[in-house]
Amino acid sequence: MEFVDRLLTCADCGGEFIFTAGEQLFFFDKQFKNDPKRCKPCKSRRAGISARPGAGPAAAGISRTETRTVCSDCGIETTVPFKPTQGRPVLCRQCFQNKRDAPPAVVAAIESVPLSAEIMVVAAHAPQA
Ligand SMILES: [Zn+2]
Ligand SMILES: [Zn+2]
Repeated sequence: MEFVDRLLTCADCGGEFIFTAGEQLFFFDKQFKNDPKRCKPCKSRRAGISARPGAGPAAAGISRTETRTVCSDCGIETTVPFKPTQGRPVLCRQCFQNKRDAPPAVVAAIESVPLSAEIMVVAAHAPQA
């Protein structure tokens, strides 16, 4: 199956955004029936504000404790087991692992806690915007 980039209109801000071939493949893979209704900024803003029961995440098969967000490092869509704070960087698991392999100061203290908790610690220690 071939996918091509499509131009969609955001239901929130009315702006146009690109539903890329890669995202379409992702949607197809996840068997999402509907096109995305919002551009990324609006989507992440909503994800930060509320996860309404019955809407979105649950329907997409994601556990309700997880929040959909966009990785501040590589920009892919990911889920985190907490509500990201607006303006603070959130990393996907892959980028988090990459950062762990590097030697930043924050890593040493969190070496021994489980992955989901580690992400929380990184978010909590991230510099205020
Ligand atoms: Zn928008
Ligand atoms: Zn990432």
